[in-house]
Amino acid sequence: MKLGLKNIYLIILTVISITSLIIAVKSSSNKKELEKLKSEVKLLREELIKKEEELKKAVEEKEKLARKLQSIEEKIKKANKTLKRKGIKIKLPQGGLFIPADRKENLEFYASTLETSMEKLLKIMAEVPVGVPLYGRLTSRFGYRKDPFNGKLAFHAGIDLKAQPRQPVFATANGIVKFAGWSGGYGKLVIIKHKYGYETYYGHLFKIRVKKGQRVKAGTVIGYAGSTGRSTGIHLHYEIRRYGRLLNPLKFLYLNRYNAF
Ligand SMILES: [Zn+2]
Repeated sequence: MKLGLKNIYLIILTVISITSLIIAVKSSSNKKELEKLKSEVKLLREELIKKEEELKKAVEEKEKLARKLQSIEEKIKKANKTLKRKGIKIKLPQGGLFIPADRKENLEFYASTLETSMEKLLKIMAEVPVGVPLYGRLTSRFGYRKDPFNGKLAFHAGIDLKAQPRQPVFATANGIVKFAGWSGGYGKLVIIKHKYGYETYYGHLFKIRVKKGQRVKAGTVIGYAGSTGRSTGIHLHYEIRRYGRLLNPLKFLYLNRYNAF
């Protein structure tokens, strides 16, 4: 086949058009790829921003939690002061004592230390006579008062709580029964010895349900209210002593009112 000028021209034209077509196709596929890449980058960037925000939020939450735990730690410090004032020689673990500040990063560990303190505090509370021995109206306070028998000024060593016949009387803390029986003006009396030098007295009982030497828990029914001994009506005479010293039981009835802890 002879190549004429016309044919050469045609071939050149064909080559050019094929090349331009290839370029066009290539560039269009490049464009597409670029678009794809761009959208991918955009997605990645959005995800990154989202992740950053999440991380920021997580850090904020962590800081918030750390502050909360620190405020609990402050309260434990206060509880330690109160325990010391009450002569209770137990120190609750404070996070800061055992965990250096930088380790507070390990919040789970920090929180579990504080939890241990709370458990200890609850145990101590079960040993200290805080609570109500009988649900009844307060009829006589602690301190000097007119004697209900002769009207003369006399010291009232405890408080009186009006009771229904045979109403149950509860031990206000864990302890050991030191005395259970008749004791002069007290009538039928139960004395419980507790930890940290505390003793509680429950007088004028109708019936005693515990024996000397018996271990009782806070909330154990130790007997039933009556009017035995030097008494003018059915009531519970309740005393708290610490190392022999009389204390005002009113201050031990409710936590919120007198803030015993
Ligand atoms: Zn009394």
